[in-house]
Amino acid sequence: MTASTAPMIDPFGRRIDYLRVSVTDRCDFRCTYCMAEDMTFLPKKDLLTLEELDRLCTAFVEKGVRKLRLTGGEPLVRKNIMHLVRELSRHLKSGALEELTLTTNGSQLARFADELADCGVRRLNVSLDTLDPDKFRAITRWGHFGKVMDGLEAAERAGLKLKINAVALKDFNDGEIPDMLRWAHGRGMDMTVIETMPMGEIDADRTDQYLPLSLLRARLENEFTLTDIPFKTGGPARYVEVAETGGRLGFITPMTHNFCESCNRVRLTCTGTLYMCLGQEDAADLRQPLRASEGNELLHAAIDAAIGRKPKGHDFVIDRRTNRPSVSRHMSVTGG
Ligand code: SAM
Repeated sequence: MTASTAPMIDPFGRRIDYLRVSVTDRCDFRCTYCMAEDMTFLPKKDLLTLEELDRLCTAFVEKGVRKLRLTGGEPLVRKNIMHLVRELSRHLKSGALEELTLTTNGSQLARFADELADCGVRRLNVSLDTLDPDKFRAITRWGHFGKVMDGLEAAERAGLKLKINAVALKDFNDGEIPDMLRWAHGRGMDMTVIETMPMGEIDADRTDQYLPLSLLRARLENEFTLTDIPFKTGGPARYVEVAETGGRLGFITPMTHNFCESCNRVRLTCTGTLYMCLGQEDAADLRQPLRASEGNELLHAAIDAAIGRKPKGHDFVIDRRTNRPSVSRHMSVTGG
């Protein structure tokens, strides 16, 4: 191992072995808590090519990344995305990478599930906030519920293990979470609920939507027996086992309990910007060192410098007075 391919250890002794890559900032949905309806996306010429994304990901794998998650925007709407997935799957075959996975809204899964499984993808996170087709249309603005259901079926047929991620939204889906839990667990899928985070300008008022998961958990405990378990997937969720369904439920609580102490991840955007923390603005440009030479030395050095300033954590605040987001970029830039 050369000095530059040494593992990534941040100033707080945390080992970074998980990279999330937003392969596009575009999405075929416009979820109301995530984006404004008339979002301006990056000009296509600003995007790294798939070859460049592969090179960047590979540089991280060389530096000890064991888990790679493609996200977005919607990763499956990036043109020729399967080319990247197939290329990256060589790191699974070599054993350098433990897991290659995606977070998706499910809209394109009917088309891609078989190929994803063929590339060695074993698990997917599918974001789904409601089982009511009308509410689904309202929250996604542009989404088709039936297409997502077809996508889930295709993924199940392909043997992919699914986890449903739902953002908990006050007076929108909080009453529905028990039914969603029974539905997901009944199909053998895990489920995770997520607190809404103040990221990027949207058309709505975030203070109207925010639901602390401590409250949701207390309500669920009226119906279900929840037991904390040490189960980990490498992500930030804390899991409980639900006795009545036999399934697992994860809580991602960036607002009420931030999960920074065990943070093992960094996030790369489709323009080659590396964010060391979801909840902070500091970032490092990796596009310049990527393009400056054909070898990876400059890139490795830039990654080391960035990891050297990974902050201890984030402190999201939903400010009732200004109603301004804590972090100006939208979730679609870094993919959550
Ligand atoms: N399009 C893919 C999807 O829908 O899963 C990947 C990108 S999406 C930005 C990733 C996740 O972030 C989704 O589960 C979405 O619900 C969640 N998300 C978006 N904006 C959020 C916010 N402000 N707070 C919490 N979660 C958010």
